[in-house]
Amino acid sequence: MAFPLMGDDTVRHTLPSPIPNPYWVAFSPSCAKLIGVPVGANQLPTDKQWLDLLAGNSLKTNTHQFPHPIASVYSGHQFGVWAGQLGDGRAILLGDIAGQELQLKGAGKTAYSRMGDGRAVLRSSIREFLCSEAMHALGIPTSRALAVVGSKMPVLREVSETAAICARVAPSFMRVGHFEHFSSLQNTGRLKELADDLITHHYPHCLDSAEPYLALFNSISKRNAALVAQWQAVGFCHGVLNSDNISVLGLTIDYGPFGFLDQFQIDHICNHSDHSGRYAYHRQPQIMHWNMACLASAMLPLLELNHSREDAQALLTNALEDFPSAYAQVWQKSFRDKLGLYTSEEADIRLIERLLQLMHDSRADYTSLFRNLGSIEKGSRPEENLLRDQFLDRSGFDLWLKEYFARLAKEPLDDQTRKMRMNAVNPKYVLRNHLAQHAIELAQNDDFSEVHKLLNILSMPFDDQPQHQSYSLAPPEDLQTISVSCSS
Ligand code: AMP
Ligand code: MG
Repeated sequence: MAFPLMGDDTVRHTLPSPIPNPYWVAFSPSCAKLIGVPVGANQLPTDKQWLDLLAGNSLKTNTHQFPHPIASVYSGHQFGVWAGQLGDGRAILLGDIAGQELQLKGAGKTAYSRMGDGRAVLRSSIREFLCSEAMHALGIPTSRALAVVGSKMPVLREVSETAAICARVAPSFMRVGHFEHFSSLQNTGRLKELADDLITHHYPHCLDSAEPYLALFNSISKRNAALVAQWQAVGFCHGVLNSDNISVLGLTIDYGPFGFLDQFQIDHICNHSDHSGRYAYHRQPQIMHWNMACLASAMLPLLELNHSREDAQALLTNALEDFPSAYAQVWQKSFRDKLGLYTSEEADIRLIERLLQLMHDSRADYTSLFRNLGSIEKGSRPEENLLRDQFLDRSGFDLWLKEYFARLAKEPLDDQTRKMRMNAVNPKYVLRNHLAQHAIELAQNDDFSEVHKLLNILSMPFDDQPQHQSYSLAPPEDLQTISVSCSS
């Protein structure tokens, strides 16, 4: 639901700035279906007005009007430090469509652009588009992407690039940073409106609670705990887990220098600008918890409406303490599923951790290793196992496999059924950096075919798609260390 119009200091009516000669770079028929946009045989909207709308050059199509686009302000903690007001300098919310917000990222300056140009470049828009749709297909909560529209308009980053707009879709783009913004201004009235709006539209069950705001905090925290557990399971690193990039709906949002793990390294840092490794793979759960602490302190004034400061703090602190167990529950279930374990034993956790340790020591390819685990035949000889070659410590792997087989023996499923179920949670195809990079390089030369191809392949990540086998493989050695920075 659209952000409530709460006055000039909260949202500003902001018209997108037109871009010259826009063209389609990418379009997602699946996202179009979600918001009821009819699509033709060419996989583009039948109504040609959509191109101008998503380019920011018009505010209507034949069927829809968006007369009051807005930009909404928020603040946040960046790399652990309070950064004050910082967003939204380049995303313009067109309005609601089929219960979803339609937002144009990179549609020009807003009232909150500060020194920025309000634009986004082709490279980062393609990455956001592909990853949003890929994450959705993986079953991970995420904002969606409807399209990327390009233009030859130059945009200056480290070098001169060209402009693009990513049209994003989500039930709400509200962030922890929105709460922090009004809390930092000690504007409890606005804070309350924000929370009430969120409860009404997205968390109505909180009204059944004697403490609706506490229930709201609990629900948001739980969703984000589950989200980060799902990221860990699929080997996704967000890259910039600043509090302004954390959705209060528990969605993955703001795809920047993200990365899927290729060679597994527990402390992998996907963001070139993250010098201290604050957002490394193994730190994501702890950082999400930290972001929930930011939310808790931002929500404190709401609890104080009915409680003393001490009591309000105690209630939120207690609620915050539930995060690790909420996370662990989803993490354990996800990894048991990845290993084909459907009953649960305490020793399973050790078994999972030992596999991850072996993978880390050998820098095994994360996605393909888990995928291929499903094909192992119970009781087969370790020496005959093809996965064995991925481990430097072969005898360590043999030993692990022996214990894994012993554990599988307690599961009722036959190999074939287990493989089917494991393949439904261990994707064959993820948006590896080198694949995105290849598609981007072609797109920068006006060839968008690889973007379209990737969208199709990644929309069925669990299917075998033997004709696309090469897209499932680890990157060749010279493409293993593509570095991605915050520049976008
Ligand atoms: P990010 O680190 O990409 O999440 O960006 C943080 C905030 O910086 C966003 O909410 C935007 O409002 C703002 N921002 C990023 N790039 C630009 C830009 N080119 N022009 C204006 N604002 C920007
Ligand atoms: Mg952001």
